[in-house]
Amino acid sequence: MQSSGAQSTRNCVSCGRAFSWDANVCPYCGHDYRVAMMGPQQQQKKESAMPVIGGVLVLIVGILYLIAGGVIAAGSSFFMGFGGGFGVACGAIILVLGIIALLGGIFAIQRKNFALALIGGIFTVPSILGLIGLILIAVSKDEFTN
Ligand SMILES: [Zn+2]
Repeated sequence: MQSSGAQSTRNCVSCGRAFSWDANVCPYCGHDYRVAMMGPQQQQKKESAMPVIGGVLVLIVGILYLIAGGVIAAGSSFFMGFGGGFGVACGAIILVLGIIALLGGIFAIQRKNFALALIGGIFTVPSILGLIGLILIAVSKDEFTN
């Protein structure tokens, strides 16, 4: 090891030879120090866009559910006493399904709580968008944190 001051060197952790501090790559063995420094962050789990896309699809269907449920419930409430109560109940159920689908979509986008994301997706299956969303969520199970 030399400390002449003009050009300080370090010993390569891979081959043991001294080379310039400025070099990012060992000129003798090619050991890359940039990769070595960024390694821990880069070794995170592989993430695809699938749960995000699936989550967005489920989210969209959830919003449509909320709109449809709200319209059915509000519309039916005008006909209370003429069988409108049933419509209000249906609208309320669709609203609840929409909320669950929304939560599932949000969880899927964040890649957490796989079970709830899956349940949210299942509730949206009657629609093609929801079905695709559910499949995307299901196949990317490994990307979820739990
Ligand atoms: Zn080296």
